[in-house]
Amino acid sequence: MPIDATLPYDPNNVFARILRGELPAKRVWEDEHALAFHDIAPQSAVHVLVIPKGPYVSWDDLSARASDAEIAGFVRAVGTVARELGLVAPGYRLLANTGAHGGQEVPHLHVHLFGGGPLGPMLVR
Ligand code: AMP
Repeated sequence: MPIDATLPYDPNNVFARILRGELPAKRVWEDEHALAFHDIAPQSAVHVLVIPKGPYVSWDDLSARASDAEIAGFVRAVGTVARELGLVAPGYRLLANTGAHGGQEVPHLHVHLFGGGPLGPMLVR
């Protein structure tokens, strides 16, 4: 079910539990600002999620409340993960679903990183 991205942060959401090590994940990269792991239901050959370590519900929440250091660290982390996965030359796609119309289901900000082959049209309606 898509979430209401204006709700307060739920510290028991699935990605918060992955961050705390309470749930397993196929981790690919981590630093003090962000964690990257494989999506459990990949929609492309490479489908990795990059999440900030801070308690932010959505892109809206991060951009409004996070410190400059957290925002810079997170944005740099997304780029670093794409480079580490060798996706820059062939190309990749980023997606951050936000709220109900965006189809966001997990209430902890995550950027989808898609790659590994041609990705087709941006939106299928
Ligand atoms: P969104 O619709 O943007 O909120 O996307 C949520 C994504 O999280 C989906 O692509 C799910 O497949 C993925 N997901 C949900 N639970 C897990 C999990 N435990 N580990 C990895 N990915 C997950």
